Amino acid sequence: MSDQNSKVKPGHTLLSLCCVIMIAVWVWALIPRPPVMSVTFLSVGQGDSAVLRTPSGKTVVIDCGPGPGNRNDFDAGAKVVTPFLMREGVNRIDALVFTHAHEDHIGGAVSVIRNFKIDTVFDPALAHPTGKYKEVLELIEQRGIKYRQIRRGYEIDFHDGVVIEVLNPPDSISSTNDDKELNNTSIVLRVKFGKTAIMFAGDAEESAETRMLGECGDLTSQILKVGHHGSRQATSQEWLEAVQPEIAVISVGWNNQFGHPSKETLKRLESAGAKVFRTDKNGGITAVTNGRRISVSSVRKSR
Ligand SMILES: [Zn+2]
Repeated sequence: MSDQNSKVKPGHTLLSLCCVIMIAVWVWALIPRPPVMSVTFLSVGQGDSAVLRTPSGKTVVIDCGPGPGNRNDFDAGAKVVTPFLMREGVNRIDALVFTHAHEDHIGGAVSVIRNFKIDTVFDPALAHPTGKYKEVLELIEQRGIKYRQIRRGYEIDFHDGVVIEVLNPPDSISSTNDDKELNNTSIVLRVKFGKTAIMFAGDAEESAETRMLGECGDLTSQILKVGHHGSRQATSQEWLEAVQPEIAVISVGWNNQFGHPSKETLKRLESAGAKVFRTDKNGGITAVTNGRRISVSSVRKSR
């Protein structure tokens, strides 16, 4: 055998390497991924907005943050929620949930409704005399979007492992007397996936919590989206004992005029052993679960 034949040419080595890489990429692409559910709590200033993605690719948006014309004139719908959904490649929202009609939850919906195809809007649908709520309801009607009033006992089931239970408001509530009471009529959702659950408490405060403690079944949830931006009147000791959150997310504006979150609530969360994430300090917060374990990351780390 001649010396020349036994030598490996550099071109051959490069070709072999390319083949190995291509095969590795192909094998990696074929490995089945375990189904996951993710939720991102967006940093929308003083307000709430969260985006849930299910294993089959369904998208649920829970509140849209404040809109133009609010106290700070910050349109979270246009500046935060819409760009986030576009970056995520979402072009259809399967469920848009308004926890209640306050501006810091529905103001940003105008931009979201204008920019995305929406299947159904879920709402407590209680009369609320603000121009913004009227504008949002008119837009829903103009666009021909399905609109449903929901109460405790209603379930959204995507048949991909994710089931969304409605815990509040109860059937008995058909109107509210005052603006503050609207918080306690918030839609409260417990989103279940495998052995994990996430509680979205809207702006529910103690009277709604007491009602749910007395009238609902299992409330345990690894993640709690803390009620009413960490207000002192929400997140009672009894509520925390029932929910047993490992992670607490407070959606709150930096230096807000309400003093949210309150020191008392932060203390109760700390005593309950929950790790607290805050949108004013951590920015957007994302949790991913495979139905057994949950991992949480945030734009900025907690100090
Ligand atoms: Zn609020």
